[in-house]
Amino acid sequence: MPKAPSPGWVRPVLADDLGRGAVRPVVIHPDPILTQPCEPVGYLPDAEIRVLAADLLATMYAAGGRGLAAPQIGVAQRVFVMDAGWKDGRPAPVILLDPEIIGRSDRLLDAVEECLSIPGQPVTVRRADEVEVVWYDLAGCRHQQVMTGADARIAQHEADHLDGRLIVDAPA
Ligand SMILES: [Zn+2]
Repeated sequence: MPKAPSPGWVRPVLADDLGRGAVRPVVIHPDPILTQPCEPVGYLPDAEIRVLAADLLATMYAAGGRGLAAPQIGVAQRVFVMDAGWKDGRPAPVILLDPEIIGRSDRLLDAVEECLSIPGQPVTVRRADEVEVVWYDLAGCRHQQVMTGADARIAQHEADHLDGRLIVDAPA
């Protein structure tokens, strides 16, 4: 048997139904859903939210991204997924419902970001080096965590999506 061509990255294996999400088309800028604020999902996630989370993860991995927000697959709700390490073989998918950035470090860093909704248009964006994020998971549990490095950058990029802000709106 010939070996299948290398995928470049190995997609992580996810538990149960979260591993069976559908790859959905990514909404491309300037679609209006990308520039409107999204609705909160509330604290008691239902089956629909679970399907949305699974689809976000499947679509993010298929597109080679490290973060993806619900409006990017056409759903105007405050949900995003992120996985900063999967391309380096350290997968750690996180599903954030109703996330809120409650603190930002004074230290700001410029870095080039790309957005799956704005293909082929990298933008230098200035962001806090460290953020404190609160969110709910699919079980309704509240999380509060300080994020640094790539995690902090991805979280800020995706949280911006939930407020209808894109990297082309505020370049450094
Ligand atoms: Zn984006």
